[in-house]
Amino acid sequence: MLPVNFRSYRKKLSHYRSAFRRFLNASEKNPPRGIDNLTKVVEPEVWQEIDCLSCANCCKKMTPTFTKQDLKRISAHFKQTPEEFTKQWLKKDSNKDLVNKTEPCQFLNLKDNKCSIYEIRPADCAGFPHLSKRKWVEYAHIHKQNIDYCPATFRMVEKIKAIAEGSK
Ligand code: SF4
Ligand code: SF4
Repeated sequence: MLPVNFRSYRKKLSHYRSAFRRFLNASEKNPPRGIDNLTKVVEPEVWQEIDCLSCANCCKKMTPTFTKQDLKRISAHFKQTPEEFTKQWLKKDSNKDLVNKTEPCQFLNLKDNKCSIYEIRPADCAGFPHLSKRKWVEYAHIHKQNIDYCPATFRMVEKIKAIAEGSK
């Protein structure tokens, strides 16, 4: 496993982004046969290559959505009420979801890219980047957003596309 090479990732992203988005659009409407089983095989291969601790781009450039359960759990950890926690750290986005006010996330330790509330982090963070979540058709639009931020998602789509198009 090598550290994420952002220069190479950005270069590949600018080159392949449109093609990957076209593939994701098409596969959302007409998923390749067996794609949900394929993601289960490809995901571990991706994690053999990508070291999240050398990246943390999701914590730097994106925000989780905080559910009521997240708020209850995390605010209690800080001995705050959910309202106090919300006032200090969160805002409502255009969908009226509660999201971070600031980037990078206030809980990211920038020295080592570790989450300072890892054990109690939002469910959204725990599930990210949803590589092998079923079904593909329900997550393809999420992958379409995430290829712009997440090298692991980019790599998974690259691999799946190559296999689906028979050019592995
Ligand atoms: S809560 Fe932790 S895992 Fe989630 S975005 Fe913040 S630093 Fe990253
Ligand atoms: S999940 Fe994606 S964006 Fe987040 S640290 Fe891992 S590779 Fe980077």
